[in-house]
Amino acid sequence: TNHRWDGIWLAGLRDTAPATIFDRIISGEIPAEIVRQDEHILAFRDINPMAPAHILVIPKDRNGLTALRRATAEHTDILGRLLVAAGEIASDKTLGFGDGARIVINDGPDGGQEVNHLHVHVLGGRKLGNTFC
Ligand code: 5GP
Repeated sequence: TNHRWDGIWLAGLRDTAPATIFDRIISGEIPAEIVRQDEHILAFRDINPMAPAHILVIPKDRNGLTALRRATAEHTDILGRLLVAAGEIASDKTLGFGDGARIVINDGPDGGQEVNHLHVHVLGGRKLGNTFC
């Protein structure tokens, strides 16, 4: 698109950026270690874990939601579903989580986002420090 990627005014703008590798995970074309899914969301282990337990939660239908800064009122339902799933995953000891986790959304280049399909990181399995960056 012609939209600037940085700048606060992109908030709420639908983004039609190309499909990403996550669509190929959703379709099954690329294998992933899926830990949970339903009609709306898919959760799988990050291929390059930053913590002993590192899971990504994504919407199956990106629906313009390349990044959180693109979120509009129409995304309220899926955003709630992503966070509820993240919380359930974070409290699942069978997935390797202990007593707590860190839930992270990287947003845009300066936020460290590399895949333009909104995703929630759930990190845990060890005691994390309180430095964010
Ligand atoms: P971002 O930096 O965009 O917030 O996070 C993207 C994440 O996706 C990274 O942590 C990266 O390791 C993960 N990732 C990228 N490609 C793949 C893949 O093909 N499979 C899996 N399971 N994770 C991936």
